[in-house]
Amino acid sequence: MAIRVVLLGQGLVATHFAVGVERIKKGELEPYGVPFAKYKMVYDIKDIEIVGSYDVDEEKVGKTVYEVAVKSVGDILPVPETLKNITVRRGIHLGSMEGLPFRVKGLEDELGSTKAAIERLVEEWKQLQPDVIIEVATTEPAKAFHDVKALEEAIERDDRKRLSASHAYAYAAYLYAKETGRPVVFVNVIPSPLARDDAIVKLFEEAGSLVLGDDGATGATPLTADLLEHLAERNRYVLSIAQFNIGGNTDFLALTVPERNKMKEETKSSIVKDILGYDAPHFIKPTGYLEPLGDKKFVSMHIWWKTFNALEDELVVNLRINDSPALAGLLVDLTRIGKALVERGEKGTAYPVNAFFMKDPGPRGARNMSRIRAYYQLLDYLREKGVIK
Ligand code: NAD
Repeated sequence: MAIRVVLLGQGLVATHFAVGVERIKKGELEPYGVPFAKYKMVYDIKDIEIVGSYDVDEEKVGKTVYEVAVKSVGDILPVPETLKNITVRRGIHLGSMEGLPFRVKGLEDELGSTKAAIERLVEEWKQLQPDVIIEVATTEPAKAFHDVKALEEAIERDDRKRLSASHAYAYAAYLYAKETGRPVVFVNVIPSPLARDDAIVKLFEEAGSLVLGDDGATGATPLTADLLEHLAERNRYVLSIAQFNIGGNTDFLALTVPERNKMKEETKSSIVKDILGYDAPHFIKPTGYLEPLGDKKFVSMHIWWKTFNALEDELVVNLRINDSPALAGLLVDLTRIGKALVERGEKGTAYPVNAFFMKDPGPRGARNMSRIRAYYQLLDYLREKGVIK
């Protein structure tokens, strides 16, 4: 059976996901970079069917995903013709692209209010019938509500300062699930707190649906988490951690705006105390934009610690990583796992999934752990739920 997927934000990650899934379906690509590809799961990668896409960039809305993909990755990848069947629709903006050099317009501007925009999305989704909705738009400043009434009031008041686009999308997904009785999985791989927002988790629980998040863990963060676990297990005392990322894609451009950078800093830094048990001095941030690097970012890391006999050791790691494909590979499993879990009655959020796939795993207050531990815990959980056969 197909898993019907809607993408929110047709940027580089969503485009790598769409292109990669279609290439796997055609049999021309091995699923490297998909963490659980070697296990037999109830849903196969070939079951994934992208049925809708949303953006707010005037250069993308109205174009097909094929046209968007040819423009952004056509020089490095063959773009499957099947993507001509999906046209990018207009989404909710709520200031998510403010301060960036793009011509944007949201549904709320077209229809006059955020509430009307949410209702429009629900109507469209009743036609598209998504099982999984993936939030992969530009990082935006966003704050949790924790209280359903406060969230609903902000929508009623059309409080565009307080509401984030991701909250509006998640609320629309909840309404869609509630009104159709069709459970939905909302996968949030951007830093906005959704799986860490009590209000959103409660609404999804009520609608028999799942919200997974927040902020996909792909590059330096999971590697740092595993290195810290290695040091913690040997009782080495970490004196400092420096980790920086420099990239040339529009995600890095967006992070040059201070409020957005802060969103990332929050989701990236939570690993230190959770894994070590103390807050070692650290500098962990997306650090800069350098256009020639493109999507292949440069990551550098320095960790310094005390070992036996009070001597001191250090490690230095340098990486060049294709940024967007790393997350796109995780989305393949998040889609299949999410759909299988919601069918097995999981609702609200699912910590074992978030702990492996996300930088800041929901629910609120949940611990970050090393990815190696999280991987094996998730494997046990998926076997217990019958998601992996
Ligand atoms: P991108 O800039 O290429 O794409 C973002 C897309 O979202 C753009 O097309 C933009 O027009 C669109 N957009 C902005 N606001 C929107 C809205 N309100 N509704 C619908 N569309 C909207 O960025 P990307 O490299 O594809 O990354 C996407 C997101 O994934 C970012 O938030 C990033 O922080 C997150 N993320 C990426 C990685 C990774 O690349 N490895 C890891 C973790 C998280």
